[in-house]
Amino acid sequence: MRRKLAAGNWKMNGTGASLAELEALANAHPAPGCEILICPPSTLVSRAVKAASQQISIGGQDCHAATSGAHTGDISAGMLVDAGASHVILGHSERREDHDESDRDVRDKVVSALAAGLKVVVCVGESLAEREANNTLDIIGGQMAGSIPDVVTGENLVVAYEPIWAIGTGKVPTLDQIGDVHDFVRTRLERRFGEGVGRSIRILYGGSVKPSNAAEIFAVSNVDGALVGGASLKASDFSPIITALENA
Ligand code: PEP
Repeated sequence: MRRKLAAGNWKMNGTGASLAELEALANAHPAPGCEILICPPSTLVSRAVKAASQQISIGGQDCHAATSGAHTGDISAGMLVDAGASHVILGHSERREDHDESDRDVRDKVVSALAAGLKVVVCVGESLAEREANNTLDIIGGQMAGSIPDVVTGENLVVAYEPIWAIGTGKVPTLDQIGDVHDFVRTRLERRFGEGVGRSIRILYGGSVKPSNAAEIFAVSNVDGALVGGASLKASDFSPIITALENA
């Protein structure tokens, strides 16, 4: 059985005051029926680890592929571990676009993060032009092949399907479209890593998940949870999404 995962990506939002949201979330879910992960900006990781009670994991939003060195402004996977993080998001479309990250770059980061002991959430997703050209599955298959190294397990890899055109836009694919991609990702994982491992890797949906649409998305086959941006910033928004996942 795959444990459901509700993951929040705070992106470049939040200061010390935001840790109150984390405390509110922990209080609202003292014994959660799913795994909860919050990825705050790196400045908040160590404080978030202290503010979150045991039931909430804390992750980074990116890391450098190198373990140390002359990379001004970057952080390494080992630094995230040192700050108390257990996970890191890699290959988010905003990193791929804003920082020109290629599949190869993402794969190198995944290798480095796994070596440091982090669990990785690898994001894949098509643009609107790619969907309209009927290239969605080719794009997703290519990103998976290029971004995910051979050394993953069901324990240390989570795949997040995030159509770029659905992120922060309020637009959501149809449930059939979500199901088609998640089934495709599952088949690819099983083919590449074998049935046992392929079936144990969790696949999240991400893109404008809200309290109002969470339950129907979580009912789609092979949707094991969500990666949530905007609606993860406030406990009052994220908590009902967690509850929907617990009840799925
Ligand atoms: C994201 O950036 O990972 C995301 C899914 O954002 P939002 O929920 O705001 O669409």
